[in-house]
Amino acid sequence: MCRHLGWLGTDVTVSSLVLDPPCGLRVQSYAPRRQKHCLLNADGWGVGFFDRSAHGQVPRRWRSQAPLWGDVSFESVAPALRSHCVVAAVRSATVGMPIDVSATAPFTDGRWLLSHNGIVDRAVLPVTTRAESVCDSALLAAVIFERGLDALGETITEIAAADPGARLNVLAADGSRLLATAWGDTLSILRRPDGVVLASEPYDNDSGWEDVPDRHLVEVTAAGVVLTPLDHPEGYR
Ligand code: GLN
Repeated sequence: MCRHLGWLGTDVTVSSLVLDPPCGLRVQSYAPRRQKHCLLNADGWGVGFFDRSAHGQVPRRWRSQAPLWGDVSFESVAPALRSHCVVAAVRSATVGMPIDVSATAPFTDGRWLLSHNGIVDRAVLPVTTRAESVCDSALLAAVIFERGLDALGETITEIAAADPGARLNVLAADGSRLLATAWGDTLSILRRPDGVVLASEPYDNDSGWEDVPDRHLVEVTAAGVVLTPLDHPEGYR
């Protein structure tokens, strides 16, 4: 299982989210604290962020198939990258999946950035020509993009019914919404005064981190945070 992190709030540096926290994604690349299914995340990393300096909100990505802990170039540049909306991930490739940049989250359709932390049988995913890679997560991303992010909860429950062994923690953002599912692995929320963090696991020991119960959808917008049980249609705050 990989580890991922999303941010929606005021402009912050990428390094403040990914590299600086004592148990952030850089440390999670070699010493995750809550990861159930493997020991480290050395098969690559990716950071995607929305750039408002361009026309509209443009998703930009920087990905690598090397471990995050050794990337001195990214360490040098990350303090200069600022965004209000970020999706980042470190990867532990599932056995049989390619290890290259195209298989590394975040994936994009040009509007959304999406990371998948988990595993899914590719046989239950409809064939799509739009996937960035044959990796299960890239195929899952393509299916979610095709069905639309408004249907994320339905898509996840449907795929889980087709593959009961699937673990489907998805994190996606479009610059003004952050969506995530907890389905088979950990997910936490930190509500900060300047924005909201969703992360596979807390990046520090702040007592404000809240665990998201399994089989839930989380939506973060400027209006706040809404959790919806995926087994039940009605949401609660
Ligand atoms: N199955 C995905 C991959 O191979 C994600 C793996 C994970 O969550 N560790 O990259």
